[in-house]
Amino acid sequence: MKTKESLLQDFREILVDLKEFLNYQKNIGMEGFHFSSGVIDKATLYQTIEMDGSDTRACEERLTTLKAIRNQLTGCKRCKLHLERRNIVVGEGKENAKLFFVGEAPGRDEDIKGEPFVGKAGQLLTRIINAINLAREDVYISNIIKCRPPGNRNPEPDEIAACKPFLIEQIQVIKPEVICTLGTCATQTLLGTDEKISELRGRLHHYDGIKLIPTYHPAFLLRNPNFRRHVWEDMQMIQKEYLLLTSN
Ligand code: SF4
Repeated sequence: MKTKESLLQDFREILVDLKEFLNYQKNIGMEGFHFSSGVIDKATLYQTIEMDGSDTRACEERLTTLKAIRNQLTGCKRCKLHLERRNIVVGEGKENAKLFFVGEAPGRDEDIKGEPFVGKAGQLLTRIINAINLAREDVYISNIIKCRPPGNRNPEPDEIAACKPFLIEQIQVIKPEVICTLGTCATQTLLGTDEKISELRGRLHHYDGIKLIPTYHPAFLLRNPNFRRHVWEDMQMIQKEYLLLTSN
C-alpha cells in the first residue's frame, strides 16, 4: 500500500508528463489526446485522497470549536441554575452529524453523569434512534439548557435566554441537515412560537434553513405510551429525510 506522500509524488510526476505531452500535441497540431488507464486510476485516487483530507480538516475544525464551546461553559454562572447543578451537560455525539436531537434540559441522571439522555428517557431515545436504523454515535444530542432545573421543573424564560446561544453555536458548528426537537420547550424555543407540540408535530418546519421535525419528549412518552404511534410517524418522516440525504 503506497503512502499518501508517494501517491502525491506520483501525481506530480503525472502532471509534469501531461504538460509536456500536451505541449507536444499542440506543436504538432493535434487537438485530442489519450490517457492510459493507469494514469486515470492514479488521478482518481489522488482526488479521493484530497477529498478525504478536506473532510478530515472540516471535522477537526468542528471538534476544536465544540471544545471551545465546552470551555466557555466551564463553571458557567450565567443563570441561577448554576446554584444547584452538579454537572453542566453540554451535549455529545458526532461532530458532523446529519441529525441533531434537541431536548429540554438535563434531568437527575444526566446531572449526575454530565451526559445527555442517560436515564430512562435517554434509554427510550436510544431505542427510538435504533428504530430508524441509526446508532447514538451517528447523531448529536443536546438540550436547550445545559443545567438541571431543580425538581425537573420547566426552564424559565431568563434561563432559556442565557443558555440558548450555546445551543445555537452547536447547531452552527455541526451543521445538521435535520433537527428533531423533543417536546414543547425545545420545539417552541427553536421555532419561536407558543403553539402546542400536538399542533406542531407531524409537520416539517425549518430553523435557520435546516429542516426541523418536532416530536414528543421521550419522558412524556414514558408517561403516555399511547402516543408511541405519533412518535413513530415523526421518526418515519426523519428517516425519509435522512435516507434522501444519504442517497444523494
Ligand atoms: S443553564 Fe446554561 S446559562 Fe445557565 S448556568 Fe447552566 S450553562 Fe450557564
